[in-house]
Amino acid sequence: MKELPFARPHIDDSDRAAVMEVLNGHILTHGPACTRLEQAFSQFVGEGAYCVSMSSCMAALHMSYFSQGIGPGDEVLVPALTHVATAHAVEMVGARPVFVDARPQDGNLDPVAAAAAVGPKTRALSLVHFVGIPGPVAELAGLDLKVVEDCALAVGSRLPVGDTGELRHVGMWGDCGCFSFYPVKHLTTGEGGMFLTKDPDLARKVALERAFGVDRQHHQRRVPGLYDVVALGLNYRMSELQAALGCSQMAKIEKLLERRRQNFTRLKNALSEVCEIQILDGPGNSHYCLTVVVAPDRRSELQRSLKEDGIGTSIYYPQPVPRMSYYRERYGYRAQDFPVAEAISDGSLALPVGPHLEPEDMDRIAARLKEALARCPA
Ligand SMILES: *Cc1c(COP(=O)(O)O)cnc(C)c1O
Repeated sequence: MKELPFARPHIDDSDRAAVMEVLNGHILTHGPACTRLEQAFSQFVGEGAYCVSMSSCMAALHMSYFSQGIGPGDEVLVPALTHVATAHAVEMVGARPVFVDARPQDGNLDPVAAAAAVGPKTRALSLVHFVGIPGPVAELAGLDLKVVEDCALAVGSRLPVGDTGELRHVGMWGDCGCFSFYPVKHLTTGEGGMFLTKDPDLARKVALERAFGVDRQHHQRRVPGLYDVVALGLNYRMSELQAALGCSQMAKIEKLLERRRQNFTRLKNALSEVCEIQILDGPGNSHYCLTVVVAPDRRSELQRSLKEDGIGTSIYYPQPVPRMSYYRERYGYRAQDFPVAEAISDGSLALPVGPHLEPEDMDRIAARLKEALARCPA
C-alpha cells in the first residue's frame, strides 16, 4: 500500500543541478542567486513588491517589528491560533502580544474581536493567513495600526481589490508580509524566508538591518574590506545555495500550486456530504492542507486509523499560543478565553493535499476517513 505522508519537499533534478552550480563556483553568500530569487518572487507577487530574502520566516517577522520601531511599552494584536513564531517575533522586540480569538468558518483572526482588543498601547496587528486561507484584510484595513502579515503558508493566496476585478497577493495588503521556505511549505530553500513590502524605504531598512547594519554589501566596496556600520542589525541573510534552490522552485511554483488546488478540490468534494465534519476553506485559499474539524474526543481515533492506512496527518496548531507553557506562565491563561481557537486546536485534523500526492490519492483519504468516522461514533 502506497504511503501518503502529510508533506514532503518537492525536489527534482533541476533543483539538485541549481545547488551544484553554486557549489561549483566560489560565491556562497552575498551573490546573484539571492537577487534573482528576490526578483522572481517580486514578479510572482506583482504590483512592484519589494522583496528581501531572509534566513527564515521567523527572521522576517522579527525584522518587521524591529525595523518599524515596535518595542517595549507597545502592544501587538496576535491571533491565538497560529505558529508560535508569530508571537515570538513580538516578544523578541520586547513588545507584548495581545491574543485575539479565531473565527469558526476559516480559523482566521476574528475582525470584530480584533477591533475590540485595540487599546491605547496597541501599535500593530499580526495578520496570519491561516493554513493559506487569506484573513480578513479588508475588514481590518480601517484600524489605525501597522499590519504585519504572516504569509508563511500563503504563497499564491490572492484576494480581489474592491470590485476592480484585480487580485492582490497577501503580504501587499498590510505594511509588510513574511513568507517561509521551510521544507514542507509551498516552496522550499531548506530553511529560508522572504520579507515583502510595497514601501521601498522599509525594504532598504530591512535589507540593511538583515546584514549587521553594514552600509555596503561585498560587491559595492570599492576598497575591499572597508565599510561603515550605520544601524544596529543581525545576520539574517539567506545563502546562495538556498537562493539557487529557491529560484529553481519558483520556476515551477504555478505547477505546484495547481496540483494543490486539484487535490484540495477533489478531497473537499469527496467529503462534502459527511455531516460530522466541518471543512475550513475560503476565497483565495492557497491550499496548504485541508483542515477538517471534528468532535475533540474523536480526533485521536481518526488520526490513528488514518495512520494505520499509511495516511499522514498533522494538526494546526496543537494548542492556541496563549495556552502553551511559555505564554501561559508569562501572561496567565483561562480556559474559554479563546473558545474558537481552542475548538480548532483540539478538534481539527489537517489532511494532506501537497504536490507529492495524486488526485486519485484523495479518493483513498476520503474513503478511509469516512470508514473511520463510522467505526468511532460520536
Ligand atoms: C512555518 C511558519 C512560521 C515559521 O517559519 P520559519 O521559516 O520556519 O521560521 C511562521 N508562521 C507560520 C504561520 C508558519 O506556518
